[in-house]
Amino acid sequence: MTGTAAPGPGPAPTGRMFIGAERTAGSGPELRSTDPATGEPLEPGYPAAGAAEADRACALAEEAFDAYRATPAEQRAAFLEAVADGLEARTGALVRRAHRESGLPAARLTGEAARTTGQLRLFAEVLREGSWQGARIDPALPDRAPAPRPDIRRRRVPLGPVAVFGASNCPLAFSVAGGDTASALAAGCPVVAKAHEAHLGTSELAGGAIRDAVAAAGLPEGVFSLLVGDGPGLGQRLAADPRIAAIAFTGSQRAGLALARTAAERDRPIPVYAEMSAVNPVVLLPGALAARGAEIGRGLAASLTLGAGQFCTNPGLVVAVEGPGFTEFLRSASDAVAADPGATMLTPAIAGAYRQGVAAARGRTGVAAVAEGASGQGPAGAAAALLSVSAADFLADPAHREEVFGAASLVVRCGGTGEAVRVLRSLDGQLTATVHAETGPDGTGPDAAAARELLPLLERTAGRILFDSWPTGVEVGHAMVHGGPFPATTDPRSTSVGSAAVDRFLRPVAYQDVPQALLPPVLRDGNPEKTWRRIDGALTRD
Ligand code: NAP
Repeated sequence: MTGTAAPGPGPAPTGRMFIGAERTAGSGPELRSTDPATGEPLEPGYPAAGAAEADRACALAEEAFDAYRATPAEQRAAFLEAVADGLEARTGALVRRAHRESGLPAARLTGEAARTTGQLRLFAEVLREGSWQGARIDPALPDRAPAPRPDIRRRRVPLGPVAVFGASNCPLAFSVAGGDTASALAAGCPVVAKAHEAHLGTSELAGGAIRDAVAAAGLPEGVFSLLVGDGPGLGQRLAADPRIAAIAFTGSQRAGLALARTAAERDRPIPVYAEMSAVNPVVLLPGALAARGAEIGRGLAASLTLGAGQFCTNPGLVVAVEGPGFTEFLRSASDAVAADPGATMLTPAIAGAYRQGVAAARGRTGVAAVAEGASGQGPAGAAAALLSVSAADFLADPAHREEVFGAASLVVRCGGTGEAVRVLRSLDGQLTATVHAETGPDGTGPDAAAARELLPLLERTAGRILFDSWPTGVEVGHAMVHGGPFPATTDPRSTSVGSAAVDRFLRPVAYQDVPQALLPPVLRDGNPEKTWRRIDGALTRD
């Protein structure tokens, strides 16, 4: 195992999924994860869920919804903390299995496990703080002329059962017990999770922690189910099920759009929060290149090769203004990429798609291969790649804008900032946009004017704008936005990372002239929950 060894034996995967409290085998064909380092199928096999199992999980989730959404915030917070404790108790087993199934180093997975439990605890804090409910009160104005105003009070309520699709590239933090599940459960929505085929054992171990916490908290069993099955079969069945009220997904554009289509064509269409593809442009302005071109080159290579480039925020496109420091930038980036030892990607299929993507990019008009790293071993081995193209060639062929998922980046050589702006204008929606600029804290400096001009354009393009930094590594906090215009996501109004992710699974309800005793506590006079509310437009805790 690469990196830090994880201690303790812990539970072992059994080849079963969870339909509510029941640990059970599906009635469909057996699926297995593959060791990406060897191509060897891993034990145990997982019989997939058929129509009957999917139906049972959705029925239990719907049955659980009313009781679960009525639980006090404190009870849900304690439940999320119990899930975090359960995952922590299984960290060794989770990391060992996830390493086997994903090829990701143990040290990275140990960090991801801590992020996963940290997210759950963050949502527990959010629940206790209370402002997630979005309480607003417009008190009655009986004497208002020409017409009296009624008493109107508003809060947010959960949408209903959510289908969560585990992502292949973060088998812990974006999978079965990851941010989508944590935010849906925090909102008061039961979850039916679909395990990613690439890490079935990891999914079972994480799902076991949630299922045990559901039982220990005395919650209805349908609050959580974990199903195994393929995307076109089980995934589509969940998306079409009338009891599912929202979908959370991370993966390819093809699968995300297939889910979005199904969700839109249902008798009762539902929201789909699919996080799909981005090239995450990095803009290098002339002052920054002149001041620290070589350092930027090393930074790019480090960000690009992190986790074999399998991050949705991977810097796949560099928009560089040629001038002093550009050569040093390209040389240092190229040296670092050439020295990269290679990596094992998540699955042989993902590695195959990466190799094909790099070959296709190389074959496009005007593209030069700048550097290539060593190829990783085994069927999922892949080599980092740095390519370059002129701005004119880039603008002439929309195919240059396509994401190659993995450690590949295309440097677009621009003759000036005007050309860089034209390149940026041609891009689709992105998760991130990064600017390297020489600007002083007082807003002066050689790149200050260009940076000021770029910002409004980047706001239109991306969900997160970074300066003098790298987009890989997404902090989990209150202000983070991990989202962006299509095709970065199917819904640019939200984030899938950080406490605001809970907003995706809530909807507002207004209560007009409802008697005090019937109102939910958060809307009653006297503020019994002592939470932030907007009364007559002003935020107050009174
Ligand atoms: P994927 O193929 O999109 O699969 C993600 C999930 O969606 C899996 O559970 C999959 O199930 C399911 N699915 C696939 N087709 C479906 C359909 N027609 N209807 C409903 N569900 C469907 O992603 P992946 O397997 O993780 O990787 C494949 C490619 O996705 C990568 O090469 C990369 O390009 C992209 N990707 C992007 C990101 C990102 O963060 N932007 C992350 C991961 C992957 P089955 O696999 O069981 O069919």
